Amino acid sequence: MTGGDAAADVARRAGTANPFWAATPPPERPRPTGAAAPFSLVDLLARFRWLVIVPIVLPLSFLWAALHAARTAAAARRRGPTTDAVHAARVAAVQARVRARDPAADGRICTARHAFWSVSTRDGAYKQAGTPFPVDLSALQDVVSVDVDRLRVKVEPYVDMGRLTAALLPRGVCTPVVPEYDDLTVGGLINGYGIEGSSHKYGLFSDIVESVDVVIADGTLVHATRDNEASDLFFALPWSYGALGLLVAAELRLIPVEPYMRVTYYPVRGTLRELGVAWERLMAPADRPWSEYVEGLIYDSRHGVITVADYASEAEAKAVGPINRMGWWFKPWFHRYAETILNTSVDGAPHVEYVPTRDYYHRHTRSLYWEAEMLVPFGNAAAFRWLAGWLMPPRVSFLKLTMVARLWEYYNTKFVAHDVLVPLRHTAACMELMHDTYDIYPLWLCPHRLAKTRRGTMLDAEAGFEHRLPLAPGDSPDAQMYTDVGVWYTPGPILRGEAFDTAAASHTMEQWLIEHHGYQAMYAISELNEADFWRMFDRTLYAACRAKYGAEGVFMDVYYKVGRKGASASAQAKAATSTGKAKRA
Ligand SMILES: Cc1cc2nc3c(=O)[nH]c(=O)nc-3n(C[C@H](O)[C@H](O)[C@H](O)COP(=O)(O)OP(=O)(O)OC[C@H]3O[C@@H](n4cnc5c(N)ncnc54)[C@H](O)[C@@H]3O)c2cc1C
Repeated sequence: MTGGDAAADVARRAGTANPFWAATPPPERPRPTGAAAPFSLVDLLARFRWLVIVPIVLPLSFLWAALHAARTAAAARRRGPTTDAVHAARVAAVQARVRARDPAADGRICTARHAFWSVSTRDGAYKQAGTPFPVDLSALQDVVSVDVDRLRVKVEPYVDMGRLTAALLPRGVCTPVVPEYDDLTVGGLINGYGIEGSSHKYGLFSDIVESVDVVIADGTLVHATRDNEASDLFFALPWSYGALGLLVAAELRLIPVEPYMRVTYYPVRGTLRELGVAWERLMAPADRPWSEYVEGLIYDSRHGVITVADYASEAEAKAVGPINRMGWWFKPWFHRYAETILNTSVDGAPHVEYVPTRDYYHRHTRSLYWEAEMLVPFGNAAAFRWLAGWLMPPRVSFLKLTMVARLWEYYNTKFVAHDVLVPLRHTAACMELMHDTYDIYPLWLCPHRLAKTRRGTMLDAEAGFEHRLPLAPGDSPDAQMYTDVGVWYTPGPILRGEAFDTAAASHTMEQWLIEHHGYQAMYAISELNEADFWRMFDRTLYAACRAKYGAEGVFMDVYYKVGRKGASASAQAKAATSTGKAKRA
């Protein structure tokens, strides 16, 4: 877009009446209520945890992060440039280690990486279950090659999002899906799940993968693509959580990007049903090309802000403006900034501005979306931001490292973290369920296309969605549109001092998901029993690949790996046939 066109487009959007702003706000949806909870000293202390977090945890976490960055940089210098030959030698070492496993004496294979590095709400108890056989993948943390002409990057599994964007953006390219938090790794995002506001166009992180290299149970290196002889492994890998083999490399798709994003904030007002319609229309407009990024922030049962964003050149950003460098430590937290736009808008008039691309990719990082509000309730106050905003966010790894078992238990009963993936048409019903069950706000809405595979993949589009005429908004013959509804915070009843059973609430939500062809991201604690887990996810291809690639009894089964608090992992370990002692990696 030229500067003139962009200016006209921005003026048109900002000057257009907002059809998603109800003239009068609807009545508030009734909140779930419970009996008053008995007094708990632990709850009282937890309310004032910021007294420890601000002066002690934040500075230590900052030092931890600085130390880690220095160690990573020093290790990278020692390793030198990563060529294909260097990478191949590292993979050969992994293969040798896997081949050294004695099936009669050694337990299941797991990565030697400490569980606290995983960006998840899990304690990684499965790593201690039985007699694990650790394999060290820590040498595999580099970008191997970037091919700007072919728009491909080859990476090792422990490359994290921070290092990936740092390597790609200066070349004017990036992966089309950039999960927000810097510490997320390519290996975790492919074997687990990864998403961003661009996922309505490009799918989940695993959908931007062109090929994977996997060391399977007998040490063989398998190169898998969408259409080679190992395509079953390629399709089975996402959501398998390391249960099929060790990922040692991946080739990812790239797109050309610009240094700025043109971001439009649409305040929306109405019932949750009406907010759901606004979400559909802004995400998949029928009358203009879809934006590159879309995100919904729902602040209560009647209000939200939906942002759409597109890449823009530096010339356009400077000519049209305003530019908001929101990555600076003293800037407001993104979700609170968007809320200010909601609260100050006149008749829901949209607001348009330009944001540096990297700042936009990481707009929720300083506040860990809104989870940091639990740790530092006044973290978005101007005084805190200017004085100590540079200490944010506390590193998830540091928080996990310092968590004792009792704290994990407490956290799991007082805090909810779920990303649930539902067909787009159920988004409003899902928001109503979240309101009635948890009463947690903001809710996060992130769209994603779910490719139709029909191969028995753990996730697949609904049967027959492509035959509905006309196709539902966002759907195409080869993919169904879904929404990720993110709910992360302490439930409303707990905040109001009422009794609340988080396990029962999660169980209700999970059963609803199963009935509505939805899925739950497994980085979080779930209440699913094994039978329900496999009602939610399709086991067909996963089980076939476990058998074909020899993973059974060698890599822990996915359900047992992500089972609640690792209890099921211990159960599987007891049932395991191999009983030998663990060897050091
Ligand atoms: C605070 C917080 C913030 C989050 N932010 C985001 C976000 O911004 N965007 C987003 O999409 N998601 C986010 N998530 C969810 C997160 O994406 C998923 O949990 C993701 O799978 C974790 O990535 P990781 O690198 O920490 O992987 P890990 O948790 O380390 O790994 C995930 C699984 O993959 C397996 N695995 C990892 N590497 C390999 C390998 N090389 N070979 C075989 N198996 C392997 C692991 O064993 C594990 O089972 C967040 C979660 C939390 C708790």
